Amino acid sequence: MTDATAPITQDVLTLPRKLPDGPINLIGLTRDGLRDALLAAGTPEKQAKMRTGQVWQWLYQKGVRDFGDMTNLSKDYRALLADHFTIEIPQVVSKQVSSDGTRKYLVRIAGGHEVETVYIPEEDRGTLCISSQVGCTLTCSFCHTGTQKLVRNLTPAEIIGQVMMARDDLGEWPEPGRNPKNETRLLSNIVLMGMGEPLYNFENVRDAMKIAMDPEGISLSRRRITLSTSGVVPEIARTATEIGCLLAVSFHATEDATRDKLVPINKRWNIAELLDALKAYPKASNSERITFEYVMLKDVNDSDADAHRLVELIKDIPAKVNLIPFNPWPGAPYERSSNNRIRAFANIIYQAGYASPIRTPRGEDIMAACGQLKSATERARKSRAQIAAEAGI
Ligand code: SAH
Ligand code: SF4
Repeated sequence: MTDATAPITQDVLTLPRKLPDGPINLIGLTRDGLRDALLAAGTPEKQAKMRTGQVWQWLYQKGVRDFGDMTNLSKDYRALLADHFTIEIPQVVSKQVSSDGTRKYLVRIAGGHEVETVYIPEEDRGTLCISSQVGCTLTCSFCHTGTQKLVRNLTPAEIIGQVMMARDDLGEWPEPGRNPKNETRLLSNIVLMGMGEPLYNFENVRDAMKIAMDPEGISLSRRRITLSTSGVVPEIARTATEIGCLLAVSFHATEDATRDKLVPINKRWNIAELLDALKAYPKASNSERITFEYVMLKDVNDSDADAHRLVELIKDIPAKVNLIPFNPWPGAPYERSSNNRIRAFANIIYQAGYASPIRTPRGEDIMAACGQLKSATERARKSRAQIAAEAGI
């Protein structure tokens, strides 16, 4: 565990021409940003491309955190880097391991805020669920994060830093002098399904995912990254064109009246508008289907009629439906649908020709399952009574 009291370096997102006082964190800069920073620190123009590549590989392929370890750089150049820059990722405040192997990290970022990151090991892969905001501006009535005010967007360093922190904990950087491991990766997939709405922090999420995908670094395929949105319609197309990752949509209801209550952003962009954006999604194809996430809430959205309507609504979209049994949290105004109900619902969708896996809740004993994340330090936005009233219960 890292020392939780150590100071945290502020990330600089837009670099001025001259370097500001105090060190700049190199983590989270795009390749162009890194090049600009190295130039501003005095790297000769002629060397800029080579130096950028070298430093990038140390940071993201080898996971090095100390300029002194960048052994293919001259001593003088290492000293220059150390004078101007730092290499900082968020600090792990605590780690809990579930009986099913799921790891939940509480991560501290600048300003003393906290977010949660969850690692879910599976037989042939491992998925890291990362957060994009502290809290959330949206108020989905079944989501624990939705009861917490938005505090701020995470920076690219804080987003990619969650991936680097998990690789540290999993011991997944190559040994010094060795090439990156080629066997099945422990951290093979990323889902942007932690705290926050990633499409309300688009640029930072994009820059961080570009770093994750860069072939000279962490090198995850774009098909191994899934971004989940509650339905921020105007930003959906950019996810395909500017990031290129897979898309998941928190659908959760088949009629506007119900979706208005569950996913209030529906009042801004309703089901029809959301479906139009998904039909136009540039990357959707049979090999890159859009995932429709559907939380199973007892007597709210789980009837046979709902399942039939859902199939009808998605019929022109390359889609699969991921059914998520509701994960309870203290004060939640809903109950999980019964296993029989969930199976019957899944079956209707399957019969209509769509994959309809039921997501097994992971890490429930440590409150790490979908929708259970919330940082204990931030002030709650709503009381239990308010949550219930707004959900119309
Ligand atoms: N803000 C984004 C991503 C984070 S939530 C979004 O809403 O899509 C990741 C998924 O978990 C979403 O589909 C969300 O609707 C779902 N979820 C939220 N609370 C849940 C809960 N209590 N039980 C089950 N799933 C939940
Ligand atoms: Fe925010 Fe997603 Fe939770 Fe809705 S489900 S409150 S968008 S984190």
